[in-house]
Amino acid sequence: MGEFELIRRYFARESLNDPSVYLGIGDDCALLCPPTGQLLAVSIDTLVEGVHFLPGTPGDKVASRLLGAAVSDLAAMAATPAWFTLALSMPSFDQDWLEPFASCLAETAQGLGIHLVGGDTTRGPLTLSVQVHGFVEPSLALKRSGAQVGDIIAVTGYLGESKGGLESLLKDEPETPTIAHLRQRFYAPTPRIKLARALAPFIHSAIDISDGFLADLKHILKASHVGAKVDADAVLLSHELLAFAGNTALARQWALTGGEDFELCLTLPSEHWEHCQRKAQALSIPLTCVGEITNTDALDIWESGHKVHYTQDGYDHFRSSNG
Ligand code: ADP
Ligand code: MG
Repeated sequence: MGEFELIRRYFARESLNDPSVYLGIGDDCALLCPPTGQLLAVSIDTLVEGVHFLPGTPGDKVASRLLGAAVSDLAAMAATPAWFTLALSMPSFDQDWLEPFASCLAETAQGLGIHLVGGDTTRGPLTLSVQVHGFVEPSLALKRSGAQVGDIIAVTGYLGESKGGLESLLKDEPETPTIAHLRQRFYAPTPRIKLARALAPFIHSAIDISDGFLADLKHILKASHVGAKVDADAVLLSHELLAFAGNTALARQWALTGGEDFELCLTLPSEHWEHCQRKAQALSIPLTCVGEITNTDALDIWESGHKVHYTQDGYDHFRSSNG
């Protein structure tokens, strides 16, 4: 099968019925029309086999992980997903891998309301990049730089589960229902788009949790020139995470520092807290207050009445030996 047949069969399956797509896959460029008055939010993410996912990972798992992680960046800005492009490098044409990859990519895209409008297909080590585009009203775009002293620090969902899922894969654990849940969280992130859109008018700053909660909070602190006090005991730990980790200390370590949760870390003025919590409840997403923005330049973490240190802030590709 040639490159063009491959693209036609796997990626240009459906014609798009979206007024913002004037021309989709098939020409030299896609032709797109962003709505007037909205900003275009753009972000790109890459997964490399052996670095971001284990060799031999089925195509469907890679697809949901790839698109979920990329769209999470749109959620972090309170943008509505619109279009994406896909750069795909594979060592050889492998139908058994591509079929579930393309099917799951299409299904995930449909669920997220985002359309594939173009890409590039090459031969090389298995590497996938998606560039996502979304729309956001200038007044609603959430930045890392808006945190203010006195803001509540809140997180969505249950942190650390993705890390638990990854650990279970690295240890090649048999798949119990608990482990299946954690692996699902690793392979199929659920970008918090609706919640981000609903909360955006009340939020001062936001980031999605990709490197680990503490590491990502530090990005907010640095960009906003503030400090923070975190109550580690307040961080929600799921039953599944506690069961797999075997003890609270390890589960908490994963929740605070394990990456790739693709939940949101938000800061907001306390007067909007109850309103935001109700909005989150309406979407059945936990929203937990885990700390406060301070006027120091430090990140202080408290646990059982003591100040504690977490050495591993999160994942940094260029500092780790295997990155
Ligand atoms: P060009 O050589 O002009 O860059 P290509 O031959 O690479 O164009 O691609 C032909 C068409 O197929 C383009 O519209 C391109 O966006 C699309 N395309 C190529 N690879 C992919 C892919 N992996 N997923 C989606 N669309 C793709
Ligand atoms: Mg061309």
